[in-house]
Amino acid sequence: MRDELMDNVDYYPDQYLNRLAHEGVNGLWLTVEFRDLAKTSYTPDAGKNSEKRLAKLKQTAEKCLRYGIRTYIFCIEPRAWDASNPVLKNYPEMAGASTGDGHYYFCPDSETSRKYLYESVNSIFKAVPELGGMINISLGERATICLTEDGQISCPRCSHKAPWEILNESLSAMEQGMHDVAPEAELISWLYMPQPQRFVTGDSYSLADWVY
Ligand SMILES: [Zn+2]
Repeated sequence: MRDELMDNVDYYPDQYLNRLAHEGVNGLWLTVEFRDLAKTSYTPDAGKNSEKRLAKLKQTAEKCLRYGIRTYIFCIEPRAWDASNPVLKNYPEMAGASTGDGHYYFCPDSETSRKYLYESVNSIFKAVPELGGMINISLGERATICLTEDGQISCPRCSHKAPWEILNESLSAMEQGMHDVAPEAELISWLYMPQPQRFVTGDSYSLADWVY
């Protein structure tokens, strides 16, 4: 629960990493947000402390690697936009429908949106190619893309699409941004669906086909 990339504490002392390695641990996840780490063509004001954060991330990734532990950035991306975010004035196509609580879902339908995702991930992996990959909770934990947790799609641009298509537009842009600089890195996309009964199509407690 700390902003560990912004302080100078070494959270991974050698003795600790040594113990983890002997327990068979070979991966670490470290929570990040794109807007903290990446300035893009569309979000020039983002990433204010990105140099410091990326340096700490790189230092952590390198240190863990000495013990055979790969570092994965863990994120819930793309984040829904704050309704007052000035980026949306210039690029309204990046916003989908309102979330109902002062935010807009991130709409991955446009070239702008996909380039934003590509640049965000690409710049992070370019700065820290030692990363093992990215674990993304693509749906269900917080508001992200136009596909919502209960399967409803109220964005006018996305409403005619199948749920998987919306996920694919978002994830493939991130995947490409990562693999163009780190071909061996892994993208793990997790759909967090703690209430499977909300996705029932026939049999109770089975997930809808599109999930797979
Ligand atoms: Zn949309």
